[in-house]
Amino acid sequence: MLSSRIHKISAGVACLVAALAGASVSTSAGADSTADVPTYQQFEASTYVDVDGAYVVNGDEAISTKGDLRKFYELLAGPSKTHEDGLIVNTVNGQDDKWSASQALNLTYCVSTRFGTRHADVVAAMNAGAGLWEAATTRINFVYVPSQDGSCSTRNNSILFSVEPVATSQYIARAFFPSTPKRQRNVLIDDSIWSSGTWEPGDILAHELGHALGFRHEHTRPEAGTCFEDNNWRPLTPYDSASIMHYPQCNGSSSDLEFQASDAAGARALYGS
Ligand SMILES: [Zn+2]
Repeated sequence: MLSSRIHKISAGVACLVAALAGASVSTSAGADSTADVPTYQQFEASTYVDVDGAYVVNGDEAISTKGDLRKFYELLAGPSKTHEDGLIVNTVNGQDDKWSASQALNLTYCVSTRFGTRHADVVAAMNAGAGLWEAATTRINFVYVPSQDGSCSTRNNSILFSVEPVATSQYIARAFFPSTPKRQRNVLIDDSIWSSGTWEPGDILAHELGHALGFRHEHTRPEAGTCFEDNNWRPLTPYDSASIMHYPQCNGSSSDLEFQASDAAGARALYGS
């Protein structure tokens, strides 16, 4: 889907692309090549550790513990298999990584007051991003709980996840999967989200909320021909190089990270319509 926004090329996009591409290099190197697979120690040493201790892999996905990082490495370094079949769901031990039907209707979150003067902007962008998935199916409902904004962290058990500011050059925003433990279940947002060119904040957060719903990067599919991550996913729709879950810089066909019909179809395939 092309929109007029595609013509608004700006320097911000290059920054964004560089940040995301740079972040994914360390973990994807060796993933699709058995010739020079790094040792686990090399892999761990090259993996970015976030402010809260989480390991960040695949550009913007959090892994909680060293044990889980080793499992991730072993799956990466293991023998590859191919899938022929836009949207794919993360799998853990072969099972879909998704919320229960009742939880999917009550995905509560707060937006930290530590965003300061940007707080209202984050609330609006989260609402826009969540709205794209909610419009796809009545089985998904994000619920903003402003009363928790003053204590909005992973330690707040009144909400499912928190949305918090971070200062990093590693990514614009990062998220979690349904299987991520509560202590790491947050969306972290860097200030660069406000200067990301044709990538609108609402679309960037829709991408992050896609992970929160269980969706993987579309570009890990073999059709992308690059940016392979791993094979721990199940296809929900045919490959779509324009999916909101597909990094444009990984042979993507959309430069503006717009939500696609295939993304809506994938959400319905996983959660029902
Ligand atoms: Zn992502």
